[in-house]
Amino acid sequence: MSSAAQTIAANVAAVQERITAACQRVGRNPQEVQLVAVSKKMPLQAIRSAAQAGIQHFGENRIEEARDKIPQLTDLTLHWHMIGHLQSRKAKAAVELPFTLLHSLDSLKLAQRLDAFAQDAGRRLDVLLECNVSGEASKGGWQAHEWEQNAAQRAELWHNMKQVAALPHLNIMGLMTMAPLLQDIEATRPVFQALARLREALRQLMPDLPLPHLSMGMSDDFEIAVEEGASIVRIGRAIFGERPVV
Ligand SMILES: *Cc1c(COP(=O)(O)O)cnc(C)c1O
Repeated sequence: MSSAAQTIAANVAAVQERITAACQRVGRNPQEVQLVAVSKKMPLQAIRSAAQAGIQHFGENRIEEARDKIPQLTDLTLHWHMIGHLQSRKAKAAVELPFTLLHSLDSLKLAQRLDAFAQDAGRRLDVLLECNVSGEASKGGWQAHEWEQNAAQRAELWHNMKQVAALPHLNIMGLMTMAPLLQDIEATRPVFQALARLREALRQLMPDLPLPHLSMGMSDDFEIAVEEGASIVRIGRAIFGERPVV
């Protein structure tokens, strides 16, 4: 094994141990947490090394990059996640790629376009609703930072979510969020707790939707997210190292 491959293998093992330890702290079963290795900007060889180390789920954030990489890795059994913001004009391309899960559904317009293209393709698409529960302006997602206090924001959110839920070719599998980058990692905890509460409220609103997934937690904050109920963590740098700045 090359030294780069050895580093990735050691990183994968370390991340898995940290997920297991976080689960143990709160009495969760580590099997409930799906690790998605975020391979954006990483070369094919790094993905192959991570697969060799046992990773099967990979996340990409740009359609063009996914469309380039995925066909070159079909000799491996991999599951691909689209985790980045998707412009609605790229909905068709997203439906045509073999994504297991789209984490970043963030508008009704995008939902409607995905639904229409999924119908044409004769498939259903599993999606997560990306929610901005921190209120940070730079973060995407449905506005949901004050749904508990602000009746107008709540009404709008509920209205939108019901419309997405009514689209026949999309399966809403849960919620996704990104926490702000904070010096004090512990300060991300309320953001993850807010997403978990939002899921409970949506379950009350739409009892037919089980919403099994909470996709939350990245390299710096995944242990806190796991303690707060993450079922999917999206981890890039802690597995692959720093991304190239090109
Ligand atoms: C890049 C990215 C990640 C992974 O970030 P790291 O800090 O490298 O772990 C997770 N989620 C999304 C949406 C991303 O764009």
